[in-house]
Amino acid sequence: MKKKLIIIIIIIVILVVALALLLLNNNKTETVKQKPIKDKQTSETINPLETKLKAEKYYIDNNLQRYLNYANTEEKGELTPAQIISEVNCNLDKTKYEDITPTNINHNNLMLVNKYYYLTEDYTPNDLVTLTTKYNTGVNSQMRKEAAEAFMEMSDAATLDNIIIKNASAYRSYQYQVNLYDRYVERDGQDAADTYSARPGFSEHQTGLATDINQIDNGFEDTDAFRWLQDNAYKYGFILRFPKDKENITGYQYEPWHYRYVGKEIAKQIKEENITFEEYYAYYIENENNS
Ligand SMILES: [Zn+2]
Repeated sequence: MKKKLIIIIIIIVILVVALALLLLNNNKTETVKQKPIKDKQTSETINPLETKLKAEKYYIDNNLQRYLNYANTEEKGELTPAQIISEVNCNLDKTKYEDITPTNINHNNLMLVNKYYYLTEDYTPNDLVTLTTKYNTGVNSQMRKEAAEAFMEMSDAATLDNIIIKNASAYRSYQYQVNLYDRYVERDGQDAADTYSARPGFSEHQTGLATDINQIDNGFEDTDAFRWLQDNAYKYGFILRFPKDKENITGYQYEPWHYRYVGKEIAKQIKEENITFEEYYAYYIENENNS
């Protein structure tokens, strides 16, 4: 009787183990079966990078192929999807000073001038006004009317906080930039000059919307005026145009003294989103006009 019970128990144990093994094996073959199907699907239909790019905020559909090409270039392999988007939106996949487009001056306060967008030799803003010595220290004392009024408003507000904000260099003509750039090239060579000075036609100062404030050197960063501008410039429609750590995007060294008028609303948005004007222009102006 006892023997019979033991045999029954042994049979039950064997059955349970066999069942368990069967189930386990079944699961295994299922996953093995599923995997290649899954891999096949993703590689054939959707590039995994494409999915990541499309999830990024500043993704532009028209630029998709350029993003993918850029990511495939050897030295760009380590970039994040956000960096790929930012750099391609800012035309870093193009050759500066060669793959160039005339600036669309109809964008007015939001026209873009950089190493890919240029103003022609004959472009002079038609509403330049001259800042008085109360607001100006340099020889290039003209700005477009709306920008000049905003600048004076900003300077007046700073004065109330015992801060002096004066223009040191605003509108510069094409010919002025020719002389300036040539002098720098002669002194430092063209490669070095290109990192801190714009070629004629490619200078934002020709727009009449840019101003170099107080002192044109890095010492400006350590002044109360700079700190005041950090907190307040956007309220008057000005943005720091060539920020620190964005050199690759703007194509220029950090310039704590160079501000650009874009209008109050846009200046606030650019500050809040912590983007450069290049990034703003690509996503909010060019992209929206094309779509
Ligand atoms: Zn400047």
